[in-house]
Amino acid sequence: MSEMQTSAFWMPFTPNRTFKSAPRIVERAEGIYLTEKGGRQIIDATAGLWCSNAGHGRTEIAEAIYQQAKTLDYSSIFNFGHELGFEYSERLVKHTPDGLNHVFFGNSGSEAVETALKIALQYQRARGKGTRTMFIGREKGYHGVNFGGISVGGIAPNYQSFGQPVKANHMRHTLDIERNAFSRGLPEHGVELAEDLERLVAFHGADQIAAVIVEPFAGAGGVVLPPKGYLQRLREICDKHDLLLIFDEVISGWGRTGSAFGSIEFGVTPDMITSAKGITNAAVPLSAVFVKDDIHNTIMDAAAEGMVEFFHGYTYSAHPVACAAGMATLDIYEREGLLTRASGEIGQHWENALHSLADMDNVIDVRNYGLVGAIELRAPENLKGKFGAKASGMAWEAGVMARGIGDALCMSPPLIIEKHEIDAVVDKLRGVIGELV
Ligand code: PLP
Repeated sequence: MSEMQTSAFWMPFTPNRTFKSAPRIVERAEGIYLTEKGGRQIIDATAGLWCSNAGHGRTEIAEAIYQQAKTLDYSSIFNFGHELGFEYSERLVKHTPDGLNHVFFGNSGSEAVETALKIALQYQRARGKGTRTMFIGREKGYHGVNFGGISVGGIAPNYQSFGQPVKANHMRHTLDIERNAFSRGLPEHGVELAEDLERLVAFHGADQIAAVIVEPFAGAGGVVLPPKGYLQRLREICDKHDLLLIFDEVISGWGRTGSAFGSIEFGVTPDMITSAKGITNAAVPLSAVFVKDDIHNTIMDAAAEGMVEFFHGYTYSAHPVACAAGMATLDIYEREGLLTRASGEIGQHWENALHSLADMDNVIDVRNYGLVGAIELRAPENLKGKFGAKASGMAWEAGVMARGIGDALCMSPPLIIEKHEIDAVVDKLRGVIGELV
């Protein structure tokens, strides 16, 4: 056994033994480029794990982290406060859809999801609807790895490994390659899939359901975009049955779609938004739940004066160093216009470049929106469901980091990517896909 194979590090969501027999180790990152041990450069076409939206190695963020750690490295946030937490919250909600004016901080997307689910339960109890304790998620949905998140999530192995600790059921997913292959932007067909929510409401009873949670587009499920009108219809059905609607925008937030949030881009306002990743450009962990005024105020008002209103929080909620990184990240997004960049020429170039691969025999779908996209490959029978991983390995060798999900190559490049760099990604992928068997 090699030293690497016996190392102490138990890697997450990784076949450890395979990885450790042929490790891929990144040493440096700058802009859209990663440098592998040994010096080879690779284009990071996934912005890390859909998170380094402003590109790697932003010195302004590094500087802010350093200065904050020197000034106030930590201070308890239970019953005490620091000004940065308040200042940063005010600044964040200037970017959220109207009415989502309150922020609860955590450290990861998974924690944001758990927090949002708990806020939903607390709100239902606070307004006298305590029977509403179950959640509706969606197949192919990914909501992190904690017990609530895996219960509402719709990715089979995550779910099957641990059962369903929190009561949940799932709507059908909206990936329909037969009808929507090679869609540009939102797919035309599938608005009727929103009616699946009506089926679940009829089955369980609205008085049992606290909230519906979906990603505006499913990321880890393979870049599954909402059909035109679908999210609007989900909102209508939630309103009709008095259900909360939570958008998990851990990936779709912070400029990925061409707006600050997918909800703004797609014109549908949920009751809560979960956010992480791009919130600090991934330089340090931080997550947030943005909450509508009515939900926040109902919970506040239900508690007796002097009592804790919500029995929840993390040691590192609103960690000063993370808030400082978040502030510096907002500075960059605002100054460089990154939150809307994907809706302009660069998004159009991305779309055209990805769709130029549609002429390849083994490409059966290309889907895209803003600066996110997937290339669905025709997998040989013996590699069905695993072909994306094979393609991703070959792409890495060719100098592009792309994620293999099922039989697709999924990408979400840093929002700073330039046209010639998109062309380089697609050229390299053309070579990889041409050689794939
Ligand atoms: N929600 C969504 C939509 C995600 O894509 C992810 C991670 O990819 C999470 C939640 C979990 O985030 P984390 O890995 O930071 O816990």
